[in-house]
Amino acid sequence: MTDAATIYALASAPGRAGVAVVRVSGQRAPDALRSLAGALPLPRLAALRTLRWDGAEIDRALVLWFPGPHSFTGEDVAEFHLHGGRAVRESLFAALEDLGARPARPGEFSRRAVEHGRLDLTRAEAIADLVEAETPAQLRQALRQYDGALAALYEGWRADLIAGLARAEAAIDFSDDGVGAEEFAAARETANRLIAEIQAHLDDGRRGEALREGLRLAIIGPPNAGKSSLVNALAKRDVAIVSDIPGTTRDVIELRLNLGGYLVQVADTAGLREAGDAIEAEGVRRALARAQGSDLVLLLLDGTVPYTEQIAVMPDLTVWNKSDLRDFQKGGGLALSLKSGEGLSQLIETLTALAAERLETKGDAPALSRPRHREALREALSSLRHGLDAPADQPELLAEDLRLALRAIGRILGQVDVEELLDVVFRDFCIGK
Ligand code: GDP
Repeated sequence: MTDAATIYALASAPGRAGVAVVRVSGQRAPDALRSLAGALPLPRLAALRTLRWDGAEIDRALVLWFPGPHSFTGEDVAEFHLHGGRAVRESLFAALEDLGARPARPGEFSRRAVEHGRLDLTRAEAIADLVEAETPAQLRQALRQYDGALAALYEGWRADLIAGLARAEAAIDFSDDGVGAEEFAAARETANRLIAEIQAHLDDGRRGEALREGLRLAIIGPPNAGKSSLVNALAKRDVAIVSDIPGTTRDVIELRLNLGGYLVQVADTAGLREAGDAIEAEGVRRALARAQGSDLVLLLLDGTVPYTEQIAVMPDLTVWNKSDLRDFQKGGGLALSLKSGEGLSQLIETLTALAAERLETKGDAPALSRPRHREALREALSSLRHGLDAPADQPELLAEDLRLALRAIGRILGQVDVEELLDVVFRDFCIGK
């Protein structure tokens, strides 16, 4: 249910800054704005005002007034652009509390926007992705989703399902005459076509998710080939490091690289080092397990040691290291010396090209960007497949499966099971968004 409380939050980052933006949304927003800043300014036009509360001056600030429903949340919204100091912010927050507003919970502004039909869920998720985007490619995908590319695709399928469902219902109503059979066939045809389209969307090699979360790169190879040195070399290049995220279990470090605009995660570098020290069989086993869960596999070999081993994973790229040494010999792939740096630029270029090939969407179709969408689409697919088993004399079975598929797709857009679903989606949002 929609919460009637008026909420406020800092929409800009916390800490000292030139400007801090505070948003207020809900019924009391216009009163709060009037009490603090005098008469309401014209809608959507900035006005410079002195903010006062309880006889004291808070700040000279820009204020904006967005009357509902034409606001971000669909409610009455006031925005304060203050000087970004702690005392200024705290004074405004205290005044807003006095005026009957409460602090917003994470994602509450976007949630209200969804509840008031201002945003569908895929667009709300795109806002979170926009805020999180670290590379240009992530930014492009988030903007595209915010523009409604995914929503349009899923809305289209929903509309088709509704039409198919209507045909199946007609088949039930007219089961006694010839029309029934025709309607049943039409509903089946819709199911068949949607199965093909949804399946093609799902079979995208995790493109959109990898773009959003980072492409997983595994560097495998025998001990002493130079795997740790390679990870360090990549991290030291200025094309590279975005951040180190210390993991939760056994000091796993995840290195995040910005390779030519694409986010690439080099997983488990601590594990890589460990694999070098441990008994070889164990090291290889771990490396293989890691490689199987990755999007890209780089096999790094020591070019001074003959390599005969058969591995179960097909590498996307083979690199022969230690080209600076006299007895170096190279097989198929790239030559590299991590000692002299020779070949490193070419390796980075090749990796970037491989990342681009994996991540860029072919054609116009928007890429699926979240596991949540994937799950719902798989569910829709299985309902549709099940529906095809319905015999012609029981069109109600097909109708039921079409309804289930419809619900699954509606869930992606935020149109059913809303309460429970919204809790999950907005849990990870930051406050003020
Ligand atoms: P890992 O076991 O695969 O992680 O390999 P390391 O990165 O620990 O490197 C193994 C050894 O090879 C270290 O002594 C490195 O200094 C050395 N090494 C790495 N790359 C090169 C290279 O390009 N040339 C030479 N001569 N030695 C290298």
